[in-house]
Amino acid sequence: MTRRLRYPKGETVKKSSSTPATRSIHAGSPRPRIGRAVVTPVFRSSTYEYHGEAYHDVGYLRLSNTPNHRVLHSRIANLEGSEDALSTGSGMAAISSALLTVLSAGDHMLVQDCLYGGTTSFLQSLLPRWGIRHSAIDPQDPDTWEARLRPTTRVLYVETLTNPLVQLADLEALVTFAREHGLISVIDNTFASPVNFRPAEHGFDLSVESCTKYMNGHNDLVAGSVAGSADLVQRIKHTLDHLGGTLSPDCCFLLERGLKTLALRVGHQNAAATEIARFLEAHPAVATVHHPSLESHEQHERASRLLDGFGGMLSFEPAGGAEAAERFLAALTLPVVAPSLGGAESLLVRPAAATHGSLSPAERARSGITDALIRFSVGLEGAPDLIADLGQALEAAAAD
Ligand code: PLP
Repeated sequence: MTRRLRYPKGETVKKSSSTPATRSIHAGSPRPRIGRAVVTPVFRSSTYEYHGEAYHDVGYLRLSNTPNHRVLHSRIANLEGSEDALSTGSGMAAISSALLTVLSAGDHMLVQDCLYGGTTSFLQSLLPRWGIRHSAIDPQDPDTWEARLRPTTRVLYVETLTNPLVQLADLEALVTFAREHGLISVIDNTFASPVNFRPAEHGFDLSVESCTKYMNGHNDLVAGSVAGSADLVQRIKHTLDHLGGTLSPDCCFLLERGLKTLALRVGHQNAAATEIARFLEAHPAVATVHHPSLESHEQHERASRLLDGFGGMLSFEPAGGAEAAERFLAALTLPVVAPSLGGAESLLVRPAAATHGSLSPAERARSGITDALIRFSVGLEGAPDLIADLGQALEAAAAD
């Protein structure tokens, strides 16, 4: 007789006795283990034997129900502190499937004014074609929230830490506002990861992650996830099944492997970014530094209260404008000048020339993104090595 595998979900796994480090390794692992294997094997089968189940339960790869998906979903739900979770083929697949599930033609959403560019583009260029509109709110200014509300507003959408200035909104007040007005609250938690912030614990209905970043942590795949109540996640899965945005079993395997070191990696990155931010703030060739660990950061108090760690993302401006910033980037030897974030290799970009290059200078100025600003995703290298490299590059940039 074959024994039925159990994939424990959400908070049911050893919550009381375990730390995120333990849960990122063990949560959601099926019992009994598959073929007694310690690590989940890759199931490349696109289809599974039919035993008369309902269509939704038929084993089929696009329906995200292979053993690799089930383990991953249980693990992510557990890490997020949510009832259920779903993996997707990219962070954008998670965001688009979630929004297309909770919004219908004629609906309106409130969104934070400075969002990830791909999300903004989806809101501006695609959703209006289905009659879905949005209004931007200043997350630091509650007066704008009420003022932009419409009878058709259904969703409030924010990010835990903004890109690239790592600003932190009053997330608790935003959730309360959403509750009071019957809005579904959705948060993109990519910059924080569930190690530093678990949206469900603060009342958010849905947490989306670009797992391409910290969740996987090795700059070697594209993936996403959505976590929330079982009912909402199942509705989003229904949308994803139709849009076809499933994650491949090979990527599930890599993401599950990446998740095992999530807490270790993020812990290292929190500490290294704090050290680097302090070094940069004290450096005479640096004009400004943005990292929530710094007392000079506008929301330092709030970050200390809401976050379990200040995160591995920071931004700063070398003195001397855009030209000095370019000289600085050219003189670096360790970090790679590339978009994306959250991986083992430290990555830098100058947002005005890269991630935010499609915005007009006026739009960038409104968002506080100067031409010299550099965004730094601190990797897993030793902090002293990164500091030495940053120091020599700053000197080289200043000497020219
Ligand atoms: N959300 C944030 C905050 C991001 O930075 C990104 C990508 O850079 C995304 C979502 C989209 O993720 P993906 O590239 O995995 O689709």
